[in-house]
Amino acid sequence: MSPSKDTVDREPPSKGAVVPGTLYLVATPIGNLEDITHRAVKVLSSVDLIAAEDTRKTKILLDHYAISKPMVSYFSYNERHRAPQLIEKLKEGQSLALVSDAGTPGISDPAFHIVQSCLESGIPIVPIPGPSAFVSALIVSGLPTDRFVFEGFLPMKKGRKTKLGILSTEQRTIVLYESPHRVLKTLGEIRIAFGERNVAVARELTKKFEEIVRGPISLVLEELQRKPTRGEYVLVIEGRSKHSEAEPS
Ligand code: SAM
Repeated sequence: MSPSKDTVDREPPSKGAVVPGTLYLVATPIGNLEDITHRAVKVLSSVDLIAAEDTRKTKILLDHYAISKPMVSYFSYNERHRAPQLIEKLKEGQSLALVSDAGTPGISDPAFHIVQSCLESGIPIVPIPGPSAFVSALIVSGLPTDRFVFEGFLPMKKGRKTKLGILSTEQRTIVLYESPHRVLKTLGEIRIAFGERNVAVARELTKKFEEIVRGPISLVLEELQRKPTRGEYVLVIEGRSKHSEAEPS
């Protein structure tokens, strides 16, 4: 079997034109509406249709940039039903942008399914890069960025303990997403499974209440317990030291 190959006629990119029958995966801001590329705005202004994880949220972004385009929803609970409809539109020659709730589609967001469907149908896919919460958190964490592992959300129940056990031996910096309701519980479990480690907890990145708490996990936990946990969180955890023989406490 020969490998599949995407070649897209990108002319004329400076006019913001899009190629018919192409899926654009467009990264959008993770909070601050100004964190979007010129190219993303051009593509969103030019496509025939925008498939959005949260149409209300995307409308706020589109209104901010005076973009008026038809939208359809595409989220994890309707992706299997919606993807074939979108593929039909792409086959008819419509151009389509896929945007997630925030950040880069496909990063802990639905996109994988439609990407696979496009590949099966020979439909070209073009990435329009931009923000992703894990990159912003990692670069301000103060922890090594040369090698890291992104794990997205930990499993909620089944496999959680096993995953924590595996990650406790990971030497690369570990990046996780977490909700405000579980952030303290998760950090507590990490402290038990990994032992004392340096962490950075990045909250509400690019937003009004952006906050990064760094330090040994016990102290960071104490700090976070002082007030209610609100907003969106990324956890960045120091990898296990190469010389560490100590078992987690
Ligand atoms: N596709 C997104 C991306 O590229 O980052 C991630 C989507 S995932 C469903 C949502 C999670 O990303 C949140 O629960 C949180 O862990 C993280 N996140 C998104 N925006 C964030 C922000 N502004 N500050 C901190 N974490 C954020």
